[in-house]
Amino acid sequence: MKRIPLIAGNWKMHLTIGEAVTLAQEIAKSSQGLEDREVMIAPAATAIAAVAEAVEGSPVLVGGQNVAWEQQGAYTGEISPLMLKDAGATMAIVGHSERRHIFGEDNTMVNQRMIGALASGLTPVLCVGETLDEREEGLTMKVLEVQVCEGLEGIKSDQIGQVVVAYEPVWAIGTGKTASKEQAQEVHRFIRDVLGDLYEKKLAEQIRILYGGSVKPDNVDDLMAMPDIDGALVGGAALQAASFERIIHFS
Ligand code: PEP
Repeated sequence: MKRIPLIAGNWKMHLTIGEAVTLAQEIAKSSQGLEDREVMIAPAATAIAAVAEAVEGSPVLVGGQNVAWEQQGAYTGEISPLMLKDAGATMAIVGHSERRHIFGEDNTMVNQRMIGALASGLTPVLCVGETLDEREEGLTMKVLEVQVCEGLEGIKSDQIGQVVVAYEPVWAIGTGKTASKEQAQEVHRFIRDVLGDLYEKKLAEQIRILYGGSVKPDNVDDLMAMPDIDGALVGGAALQAASFERIIHFS
């Protein structure tokens, strides 16, 4: 089965509702007619409903930047799968490195979020990635294996097809330092092999693995040419229409 490339924009804590709608409209316009790839944008929570309305009828999908595991309750500051869907989102980023490193989310919490998202029919994007220290100490593959295995704990074979994984080396996020295409490919292949050990090899071949970390118009084509890179999770370059449009039109 061919994996459909996915380009996802993570807008982080940027853009007012008005700014988000303007950018979403431009992306929706330039995504018209794209049939061989998917595009997702993840606005701040305040803008999800307005952005979902702005892209309605276009191929652009909308995602949350995080998701809780319960549908409602005493979880101040959290947004439930039910609420994301109500606002028009169909996907959710889970375990982003900023959630892990600034807000202290661990693999157990990330796993709960993954399970909650899947149970509600959202497509979760599980983010994994090593820090610079871990890479320099030769721990990259070990760290990733633990993040993938613990992040997917309890997720069954009939659900795994709905999961997207994003490899985002922490040292490459927002730093302008991109992993080389060879470095990224090596890790993507490793993650696919881990998925193959957890599930069937055939299923692992169907799971999309995105690369994230300073993806820009001038490196996206090289990255996307690698056999196990199935898309990109884009931060900074997703905030300007021109650069994100160039990225979604990768060749
Ligand atoms: C991200 O936030 O997931 C990301 C990859 O950011 P940037 O593209 O700015 O490195």
